[in-house]
Amino acid sequence: MLNERIPIPVEEAITRVMHEAKLGDMEYVQIEEVYQRVLASNIVADHDVPSFDRSPYDGFAIIAKDTGSASAQRPITLEVVGHIGAGSVYNQPLQKGQAVRIMTGAQIPDGADAVIMLEHTETVTDSDKTFVNIQQQMKHHQNISFQGEDVQKGETIVERGTLINPGIAALLATFGYKKVPVTRKPVVGVIATGSELLEVDQPLQKGKIRNSNTYMLMAQIERAGAKPKYFGQASDQLDVCINQMKKAIDEVDSLITTGGVSVGDYDLLPEIYEHFDAKVLFNKVAMRPGSVTTVAKCQDTLLFGLSGNPSACYVGFELFTKPLIQAFLQQKSVGLSRKQATLDVDFSKANPFDRFIRGHAEIRDGMLVAYPAGKDKSNMVHSLADANVLIRLPGGTEGFQKGDSVEVWLLENDTM
Ligand code: AMP
Ligand code: MG
Repeated sequence: MLNERIPIPVEEAITRVMHEAKLGDMEYVQIEEVYQRVLASNIVADHDVPSFDRSPYDGFAIIAKDTGSASAQRPITLEVVGHIGAGSVYNQPLQKGQAVRIMTGAQIPDGADAVIMLEHTETVTDSDKTFVNIQQQMKHHQNISFQGEDVQKGETIVERGTLINPGIAALLATFGYKKVPVTRKPVVGVIATGSELLEVDQPLQKGKIRNSNTYMLMAQIERAGAKPKYFGQASDQLDVCINQMKKAIDEVDSLITTGGVSVGDYDLLPEIYEHFDAKVLFNKVAMRPGSVTTVAKCQDTLLFGLSGNPSACYVGFELFTKPLIQAFLQQKSVGLSRKQATLDVDFSKANPFDRFIRGHAEIRDGMLVAYPAGKDKSNMVHSLADANVLIRLPGGTEGFQKGDSVEVWLLENDTM
């Protein structure tokens, strides 16, 4: 069992993981906390927006007919009978020959059917009365924001499964959602294995490296919309790893380990999966980097055995863990979105396996262009900093040339 490693295609591996997806429950969070959460129910408008006819400008609410044939040569004069501040209302119906001073957003008084902008008027005071001179003809319904012109009662304004952005936060507030139904964030645990690992605040020592995967993964987990929980580093000792994982499994929705998943002397994960009696979904994927990526299921918890190599670890998370998180969150679209881009460099290395290059894509002259974000080796960390896509180069090909059309898988949630 331990030595049997049959590579399966990437898509097949993703399918096997997604087959195990669980759906997260709904919870309520305060509106202050909603940014980037996933909405758990449709938001249906229970009133019109605006909920009354209102003025889009500072000016005067008038009866359009009163302006008759007003012109610069023959202005007409209306008596100003009221003054409506923001949030106030004028309660009497407007009579012929009257105007009401109105602020942006205030309710149009009954009887008024147009608003003239303040800058198109002249106000004059005569003894204790105020008048407004108007030099132009106004039309029925001119300059009025009508009830329901923004949103109509009954409309579904945001669908469940949508990632909440600032505009959606505004809509939720408009409709009085002090508490918002969202999907619970899954807790994703992280354990870094390897006797060579130093804590981030330890000085470098011969033969050792600082553990960078933990912090990379915690940021990836957050970017995917889940809650990271770090269980510490484990040396390459069977009992240490087993104990650490046992504790973690009880506290998470899924668990990521990095390192120890290959076939070296200190690669203990295959043995640990046996110990836990976990069902291995796959232990080899036809891809570079990260061909040793393994996913196993222990009771109800998926265990992601990602390679210790930083780039391979990064790619393994994006391809397999992220879509599982998105499915849990019940997001409308699951998996990295894909686009076609033009390759900006030659890539001559042939490979039987699909290659996922940490790449950078940008729009140039209206075209999406992609190139490697740095040196392309699975043990390298620098190129990850500037990566906003994975460039997928299908296996079994003779390499690629600058100008070829390639698929890029977007790493950020924003569309490109
Ligand atoms: P492994 O998958 O355990 O064989 O590790 C592969 C390579 O990744 C080795 O060179 C490790 O030193 C390195 N590595 C393992 N874990 C980490 C980690 N947490 N952070 C950075 N590099 C790591
Ligand atoms: Mg190791």
